[in-house]
This record gives sequence, C-alpha cells and structure tokens, in this order.
Amino acid sequence: MTRHPVQQGERAGANHKMDLVFGPVPSRRLGKSLGIDPISLKTCNWNCVYCQLGRTVPLVNERREYVPREKILAEVRQALTAHAPGEIDWVTFVGSGEPTLHIGLGRLIRQVKAMTDLPVAVITNGSQLYLPQVRQELSAADAVLPTLDASNAQLYRKINRPWPRLTFERLLDGLTAFRQVYHGQLWIEVMLVKGLNDTEDALRGIAAALQRIEPDQVHINLPIRPPAEPWVQPPDETGLMRATAILGDIAQVVHPARGIFDLSGHNTLVDAIVSIITRHPMREDELVRALERWTPGQVEEALQALIASGQAQRVECHGARFWSAAVSHHP
Ligand code: SF4
Repeated sequence: MTRHPVQQGERAGANHKMDLVFGPVPSRRLGKSLGIDPISLKTCNWNCVYCQLGRTVPLVNERREYVPREKILAEVRQALTAHAPGEIDWVTFVGSGEPTLHIGLGRLIRQVKAMTDLPVAVITNGSQLYLPQVRQELSAADAVLPTLDASNAQLYRKINRPWPRLTFERLLDGLTAFRQVYHGQLWIEVMLVKGLNDTEDALRGIAAALQRIEPDQVHINLPIRPPAEPWVQPPDETGLMRATAILGDIAQVVHPARGIFDLSGHNTLVDAIVSIITRHPMREDELVRALERWTPGQVEEALQALIASGQAQRVECHGARFWSAAVSHHP
C-alpha cells in the first residue's frame, strides 16, 4: 500500500481523538480496512484459546449498548471525511470482543451504509446467528465473516470455550440459517490450532459442516499473535497441507497482511499506540514502522511510559516481542 502524504496527521478531523474507529489497517481479506469497535475491551461470549486479546474475564453474553451509537457514528463520519477516495476499501465492524453483543449493531450497519458507498463487513464469532434478530441485523452487511473452528461440541468447548448456553448445535444451526437468508458474501474463518483441529478427523468434520453451510469462501487463519493460552501453536507444514487438502477448493490460507497501519487520526503518540494495541497486539517492529512519523527514541520512551502507567504490556511469543493492552489477560 502506498502512503498518501496527507495521512501524516494533516487531515481535517485529525485534531479530534478517535476511540472507536481506527485505521485504515491492512487486511489480507479486506484490503485497507477502517475498523469500528462498538464494544469495550474485552466483551465476548467466547474465550478462545488463541484469542489475541487475551482471556475473556468474565464471559459476557448480554446484548446492550456498550458504547452510545451516536458516538460511534460521529467518529465514523469524521474518519470518512478525513480520508480521500481510495484510502479505504472496507468499513469493518470488528470489536475488542464480539461486535454482535452491541444491541444497536443492525442500525449501525444501516446508518454507516447510508453515509458511504464503501462496502461494510462484520467480523463475528457467529455464536448469536441462531437468533433471528441477529440474522436480520447482519443481513444489511456486504460481507459477514463468522468463525467455525470445531467439528463437534467437545472440540468447540475446548477451543472456543463459549458461554454455556451457546451450544455447538446453535452455532451450526445459526450459520446454516443465516446462509439461507443472506445474499452478501459469507466468508467463514477457521483458526487452526496444532493438535486440536488440524487432525484428519477434526478437519473432515469441519469440511462436512462447511458443506452444509455453503459459504462463499473459507479462510484458514493461523495463531501468530500472542494467544490467550501460551501452549497454543499454529499447525506445522503437514497440518496446514492437510487442512488445505481436506477443506477443499474454496479454502485459502490467510497470511498476515503487510502494510501500513494508519494512525493519523491521533494527535499524540500515546493515543496512537493505545488505539492500535487495544484491538490488535502488534509485533514490536510492525509497531515502530506504523509509528514512523515519530523517532524510534520517542516511540521507546512512550512505550516505557505506557508500561509504567499500566496501559501496555510486552508479551513474548514464537520468539518475537509483541505489545498489547495491559488489561489483556495473557498468562
Ligand atoms: S477470538 Fe474473538 S470470539 Fe474468540 S475470544 Fe477472542 S474476541 Fe472472542
């Protein structure tokens, strides 16, 4: 992605701090994606072993207005005004947890679509799609990216550790029912964890479920950022080959996107760092690159200050150093 010179904090709108809208961030699936986070860290009804936001403490399954809708819309408006055509490919609801827990999500999607011609995506765990209301709300999006990591109830509980009443049957029924009414792009995400769902049995079960759901695409993801549980590993080469072979022609492996994280909506270095690591723990070298309008010395100083004030933490994972929000529960 080429960097536009006015991205360096010179735009209209760059004077106002943005808490709920971030990026655009580079995404393999969605290009330059302007993120909207409608909930607070970490609000989720799953506690996935691989979650890059750390453990879910406590599990939450209540739909409510975690953040006022008007505040979200004001920030979206500001971000859309601040970016020239071509600087954003998708507007994406992706939360510090599960975005469908925001009770106003359906209206938010429709209101954002009324503001822009850009396509709107929702990244969700899909656990609430068994509810007709949630299916109807998500139908307004151009793409919905739910998760399916398991082939049976036992594996689902092991990997995703859901809110007790969110059964595997409900997940599968919800995904299937949604496909029947949804005319947009349904892209299912499968996160592969070594030894859990990269076995032949698990993959054949997932393939059978995918056949029933009939998504437009299947994206195979790998846990490459610090996971909630330190023992989580991505599959080895053989596991990955097995997955692509068994999941069939529509499955593709999503490699991490390379590109520039646009942090120009933030006035201070500290705001820019907190905004990005809250939703997206960053490898240290990626973070330094994204903050290139500040000197490495200034970045180092800000990171030390964030550690001292309890806003950030350093996490070692797969031999690399990452930065994440301090409230993330990484054991
Ligand atoms: S990966 Fe997504 S669904 Fe799983 S615990 Fe994290 S935020 Fe929730």
